[in-house]
Amino acid sequence: KMHNCIQELRGNIRVYVRTRPFLPNDQTNEEPAIDVSPDGESLTILDQRNGATHDFKFDKVFPPSAGQDNVFQEVADFVQSALDGYNVCLFSYGQTGSGKTHTMQGSGNAAMRGIIPRAVEQILTQAKVLQSQKWSFNLSASFLEIYNEEIKDLLVQMSESKHPDSHKLKIKRSREGKSYVDGLTEVPIETRDSATGMQQLDALMSVAARTRSVASTKMNAQSSRSHSVFMLHLRGINEDSGTVVEGTLNLCDLAGSERLDRSGADSDAQRLRETQAINKSLSCLGDVFNALAQRASHIPYRNSTLTYLLQDCLSGDGKALMFVNLSPTSASSNESLCSLRFAQRVN
Ligand code: ADP
Ligand code: MG
Repeated sequence: KMHNCIQELRGNIRVYVRTRPFLPNDQTNEEPAIDVSPDGESLTILDQRNGATHDFKFDKVFPPSAGQDNVFQEVADFVQSALDGYNVCLFSYGQTGSGKTHTMQGSGNAAMRGIIPRAVEQILTQAKVLQSQKWSFNLSASFLEIYNEEIKDLLVQMSESKHPDSHKLKIKRSREGKSYVDGLTEVPIETRDSATGMQQLDALMSVAARTRSVASTKMNAQSSRSHSVFMLHLRGINEDSGTVVEGTLNLCDLAGSERLDRSGADSDAQRLRETQAINKSLSCLGDVFNALAQRASHIPYRNSTLTYLLQDCLSGDGKALMFVNLSPTSASSNESLCSLRFAQRVN
């Protein structure tokens, strides 16, 4: 039976699946549990527990051989929409170790860079092109983490404010009805010179990574237990017409979706609270997608910090795309099935 997830989805939410290759730490003497069809839109997964196979269809399915450049090509138009004034959001969803951070952030060398640096680079290049049509762009970045439903500013050290508020930032609604995080640091990015802009990005990414690891050590938490959201705020003004466009690009690396062991080490109070917070916010995200797909009159944005924060992207003229990241191992097939069903539950 073919689970067809696309038609039921509202037009503005896309689902892409990406299966990572085997890694040295995986058991490599086995066949991958996931077979991506040559059409690039469907896959078959073998459920290791009972030998059953399940077919799924999504907007796009990337095979393990897909590189960072191939993946970015397929989201470039989304990134572009932020320059056109849309509120755009990309998520990466999946169990820990499935490639979420690789997809969003990637790693150092040029070929391995993920969506964040490629998106900023594309925006800087486009901003330059648009200069000839008398557009000038202001660009700034924020980076936050949501842990146990609370928002933490990862760039607070770079704040120009004397007394930046780094704890428990609150989401507010502007007079125009837009969601924003009150007091969140916005670091300007130079748009007239792309090399400088990219250096500024590298610098703020390092600050965010350091802040995140210090904070998680202090709380004895792992980064896989929180969501991180990289935000790019874009504001363009046309010097001839005076037209202003404002868009945002949110790149969201979600907490690991794996169901946690309720016995042993995971049963202490802190882990339990984390688990409940993650379950709550991921299931709220699913509920919101579900309500949107059913064109429900009430969309439960307010039920979690994540959905409330990203409300503008998920509603109205926002644009959202979710990556489902999968590990190819048969040991992960059960979690992979859960992730695929989550994406499908969006139906
Ligand atoms: P997650 O963020 O979901 O926990 P990571 O992105 O950290 O997972 O990926 C786990 C490991 O797999 C990392 O070492 C990462 O570099 C590697 N990896 C993930 N996806 C790919 C890929 N498509 N190609 C090569 N290596 C990958
Ligand atoms: Mg990660």
